[in-house]
Amino acid sequence: MTDQTPAPYDILFEPVQIGPFTTKNRFYQVPHCNGMGYRDPSAQAAMRKIKAEGGWSVVCTEQVEIHPTSDIAPFIELRIWDDQDLPALRRIADAIHEGGGLAGIELAHNGMNAPNQISRETPLGPAHLPVAPDTIAPVQARAMSLQDIEDLRRWHRNAVRRSLEAGYDVVYVYGAHGYGTPHHFLSRRYNNRTDAYGGSLENRMRLLRELLEDTVDEVAGRAAVACRITVEEEIDGGITREDIEGVLRDLGELPDLWDFAMGSWEGDSVTSRFAPEGRQEEFVAGLKKLTSKPVVGVGRFTSPDAMVRQVKAGILDLIGAARPSIADPFLPNKIRDGRLNLIRECIGCNICVSGDLTMSPIRCTQNPSMGEEWRRGWHPERIRTKESDSRILVVGAGPSGLEAARALGVRGYDVVLAEAGRDLGGRVTAESKLPGLSAWGRVKEYREAALAELANVEIYRESPMTGEDIVEFGFEHVITATGATWRTDGVARFHTTAMPIAEGMQVLGPDDLFAGRLPEGKKVVVYDDDHYYLGGVVAELLEQSGYDVSIVTTGSQVSSWTNNTFEVNRIQRRLIESDIARVTDHAVVSVGVGGVRIKDVYAGLERDLDCDAVVMVTARLPREELYVDLVARRDAGEIASVRGIGDSWGPGTIAAAVWSGRRAAEEFDAVLPSNDEVPFRREVTQLA
Ligand code: ADP
Ligand code: SF4
Repeated sequence: MTDQTPAPYDILFEPVQIGPFTTKNRFYQVPHCNGMGYRDPSAQAAMRKIKAEGGWSVVCTEQVEIHPTSDIAPFIELRIWDDQDLPALRRIADAIHEGGGLAGIELAHNGMNAPNQISRETPLGPAHLPVAPDTIAPVQARAMSLQDIEDLRRWHRNAVRRSLEAGYDVVYVYGAHGYGTPHHFLSRRYNNRTDAYGGSLENRMRLLRELLEDTVDEVAGRAAVACRITVEEEIDGGITREDIEGVLRDLGELPDLWDFAMGSWEGDSVTSRFAPEGRQEEFVAGLKKLTSKPVVGVGRFTSPDAMVRQVKAGILDLIGAARPSIADPFLPNKIRDGRLNLIRECIGCNICVSGDLTMSPIRCTQNPSMGEEWRRGWHPERIRTKESDSRILVVGAGPSGLEAARALGVRGYDVVLAEAGRDLGGRVTAESKLPGLSAWGRVKEYREAALAELANVEIYRESPMTGEDIVEFGFEHVITATGATWRTDGVARFHTTAMPIAEGMQVLGPDDLFAGRLPEGKKVVVYDDDHYYLGGVVAELLEQSGYDVSIVTTGSQVSSWTNNTFEVNRIQRRLIESDIARVTDHAVVSVGVGGVRIKDVYAGLERDLDCDAVVMVTARLPREELYVDLVARRDAGEIASVRGIGDSWGPGTIAAAVWSGRRAAEEFDAVLPSNDEVPFRREVTQLA
């Protein structure tokens, strides 16, 4: 790649005027949740600071609840309920400024999306309707009176004033993603009012207009006012193109910046399995010309060419990003410096989203330092230099081995990476060939590119290693990253011992499919007791290969855990459209010749399902023989150290494997506390 900024990208480094501020470039980290919120403010501050350092001209918080009636628990976001919340918010704004960015705060009144589980206030909305998240609390929102609306305006104004006190430069009015009350008022789906706030578009956008006017008045030129708005709700009766065009015609000049979003977070953060980069373009194109103010929008943009095209085509002024900024906080600087080959492209897996949805600190498949900046001191681009002249052998070049070799290489150690196969990448290389998962390959591509720049890392392909080889070659320090194999005996969550399997019946696992082995016959049952993406993907692969496929799962939905990656609904739809039979709430209890016996998980009722073959997507077994052998050799003094990582240590997500590779590299030569101690910093609640 070139050493200089390629001229075609210069346009991305032009300044943009937002209210009283001028940005240093067009890169804009839009508000995004992170599962840290009010619980881990210092961790969040460190994370946001690194984004600013990496070149994002504006770095925003996630949604910040403005009042106890906007309480979105159990999800962990920020709060600006009163002055007690200001020190945490100030710490975040200060950190963004230290990193060289402008700080944005997304003020949110969640209205009928707020079950108020902590505050126990009655949710508020335009109409008497159940709160949107049906799994959190079986409660309804109360239709807001004119007094409630007046109260809401005052709470919002108070939050704006406090945002300025906390040092924010960009203050949001939030009416997007089905979260903000202005969204609920704008949408005919929720707003059936007959007063001045319902009916015509003018009435439905009245609350938005008032909140914008109040905010502009309160900031009085000291900050920029941004409005994040739904451009398409993608649901019957929801906000339409016509609505948003009307809003922009009437209110287009009120805020200093428009931030275009979809009608649900799920609609904005679609995984790469279900939508390409730039999916929002069709909904956003043409809106910019309705306002003279700058506009920002997202699209999982990782390609600078795609970014330039958006700007040149007059679609966006600022390139918004949540996920691409999570996967690579230094994306803007890498484009600026012409280091395009080292961009850690987001793979669109939504493991980051799963952090927020499981109320745990954010994590990222591509960027293992995400969420660890403060508590472990990890940085996406830097790592402390080596502390000895040790030479380290990493065995296995899957995601964990690649990351361990890369990070140890950056530290300056001499590293040898030995891989049994011809291809690097382990499971990501295999899985990226499955339907919809091609972007998984970026986990390998980024690391291969990074390793190519490290003269101190040698890679040996087609080099299966044994303990004997390792001792013979004189390696002293070994990291085993040998992966795991999929079981085919039915053991997973439902069965913890092997199920009866008739001799002669074809039973395959994902590893067979990865190796190109397909079953004979026509009818295949996929038994999924894993619950993440692979069961559904394997069913799709088999259907595309011409089989008649049924997927049996103990979950009440196929791939039920993908609820946390916003995929579960799209997966059901794709399976229905592909004519793949879904047999949910059932376990396979035995495999006979010509069929399986299945059992209802609630009532225990059993029945038979005919098939020619079964593909088990169940549990995995770590490939730990080498590790076990090396432990014995270490104890016998033949090698100095051995550490197992990734799926060979504990099978999990690709994100977990990458993270464990990074951890092994971070901890090599470090004086570690005993494992009786907590291995990371915590922010413990201060007693009142
Ligand atoms: P992880 O997700 O933990 O990185 P993977 O299963 O993706 O694990 O990758 C493990 C890699 O290790 C595979 O590419 C496999 O070929 C390789 N491997 C397994 N055992 C050996 C061995 N003894 N020597 C060299 N490579 C090995
Ligand atoms: Fe992208 Fe996946 Fe990282 Fe999220 S977790 S930023 S989707 S690579």
